Amino acid sequence: MNHVVVVGGGIAGLVFTRTLLLEGVSVTLVEASDRLGGSVARHTVGGIVLDAGAESYATRGGTVEALVRDLGLGDEIVAPNPAGAWLQPADGPALPLPGTSMLGIPGSPVATDVINVIGTGAALRAFVVDALMPGTVASKSRTLGELVRRRMGDDVLEKLVAPIVEGVHSASPDDLLLERVSPHLLPALRREGSLARAVRSLRATAPAGSAVAGVRGGLTRIVDELIADIERFGADIRLGSRVTRVEPGRVTIGAEILEGQVVVAAPGFFERTGDADRVVTLATLVLDAPELDAHPRGTGVLVARGSSLVRARALTHATAKWAWLAERAGGKHVVRLSYREDPHDLAEVARTDAAALLGVPLERGALLDFARVQWRRPGSTEVAPDGIVLIGEVAAGTGLANIIGYSITQAQTLLRDSAG
Ligand SMILES: Cc1cc2nc3c(=O)[nH]c(=O)nc-3n(C[C@H](O)[C@H](O)[C@H](O)COP(=O)(O)OP(=O)(O)OC[C@H]3O[C@@H](n4cnc5c(N)ncnc54)[C@H](O)[C@@H]3O)c2cc1C
Repeated sequence: MNHVVVVGGGIAGLVFTRTLLLEGVSVTLVEASDRLGGSVARHTVGGIVLDAGAESYATRGGTVEALVRDLGLGDEIVAPNPAGAWLQPADGPALPLPGTSMLGIPGSPVATDVINVIGTGAALRAFVVDALMPGTVASKSRTLGELVRRRMGDDVLEKLVAPIVEGVHSASPDDLLLERVSPHLLPALRREGSLARAVRSLRATAPAGSAVAGVRGGLTRIVDELIADIERFGADIRLGSRVTRVEPGRVTIGAEILEGQVVVAAPGFFERTGDADRVVTLATLVLDAPELDAHPRGTGVLVARGSSLVRARALTHATAKWAWLAERAGGKHVVRLSYREDPHDLAEVARTDAAALLGVPLERGALLDFARVQWRRPGSTEVAPDGIVLIGEVAAGTGLANIIGYSITQAQTLLRDSAG
C-alpha cells in the first residue's frame, strides 16, 4: 500500500488517519470544510468555551477511553453528575427517569418509578405479557420499536423508550436497528426468556460506573490531540477541499485527482438504506439564574412525543452535568435544548421551553447569551463497492464509541490485508 486518501476529517477520518500513520503509511486527509473534527466541534457562548456537538462518549467496551489515554488525556476523563436525567411526559409534571432500565426499557416494569410515568394498567400489562410470552417472541425484531411494542406494549414504547432514544440518538425507535444500538439485547432475551430479565442481566454484567464519560474542557480536546498527532506524523491535510467523486484508487476534487487506496469517512457517496437525513437545531443558553443552582431536573430533561408544554425534544443542564463546566462558568448556568424543527425566534422559544422544563421562572433578563447551531445527521446506512473502505457514522452507527472502534478495526484490517 503506497498511499491512502481519506475523505472526511471528522472523528472517524482522524482516527483512521492516525492509526495508519503510526504504522508508517503515508496519508492524505481531504476535508470539505475549513476545520477538522466534523460533529465534534466547539463554540464560545457568553465567554465560555463549550462543545457545540457531541459532549460525552459511551464507556462500554473501553474503546474511547483507550484512545483518550493514548492521546495523553487520561487524567482529564470525567464522569457526569450521577443525579441522572428527568422525563417530561406528554401531559403532567416532569418525573425522574426510571432507574433500572436500558434505552428506556424497564428492567422492573412494575417498579414505582415506572408506574409513575406509564400508569398501573400499562405497567402491569408490560410485566405480565412480557413474563408470560416465550423468549422467542419478537426475538428476531429488526428495530428497537418493533421489539418493545411486541413485548411490552405501546405505552412503554411511547412514554419511556421513545423520549430517551429520540433525545439521545435523535432517531425514532422504529428506525433504530437493534444490531446497531444494542447488539446484546436479542441474545439476552432468548437466554433469559423475557425482555425485563434481559435488561436486568445486561445491566448486572455492565462494568460499574457511569455509562458515559467526558473530557475536562470538552470533547474537542480529543480532536485537538488527534490533529497534533497526525501533523507530527506527517499527514498531508487538505482543508476546504470538497471531494466530488470517489472510485477505487482515485478521488476527485473538482479538477484535481488524487491516487491511492480510497477510504471514505463522509456520508452521501454510496447507495443508502434507511431514512432521509435529519436536521437537528441546538439552542445554547447562558443564564444568570440562581434558582438553577439546586439542579431541579438533575442533568436534564427528555421530552415525550406530543408534549403540549414545549417544542424542545431534550434539554441538557450542562453546568449541572459537568462539574468542570460549572467551575468555568463561575456561577452562570449553561443549558442546551435540541429541536427537530428550526423555530422562528429560537432564543425566545428556548428560554420559555427551558423555564417550563426546569420548573423555574427565567425572565428575559436572565438570558446572558445565546447560540444556535444546526447539524445534519445521517438517517441511513451506506455500503461501499469493493475496493473502497467506508467508515464513519453511515457504516459504524451513531456515537463516538461505535465510530472510533470501527475506524481502528478497519484500519488494522487494511494494514493486515496489504501486508499479506
Ligand atoms: C448535536 C450532536 C450531538 C451529539 N452528541 C453525541 C454525544 O454526546 N456522544 C456521542 O457519542 N455522539 C454524539 N453525536 C454523534 C457523533 O458526534 C457523530 O456520530 C460523530 O461525530 C460522527 O463522526 P464522523 O466522523 O462519522 O462524521 P462527521 O463528524 O459528520 O464528519 C464527516 C466529515 O466529512 C466531511 N465531508 C463531508 N462531505 C465531504 C466531501 N464531499 N469531501 C470532503 N469532506 C467531506 C465533513 O465536513 C465532516 O468534517 C452527536 C452528534 C450531534 C450532531
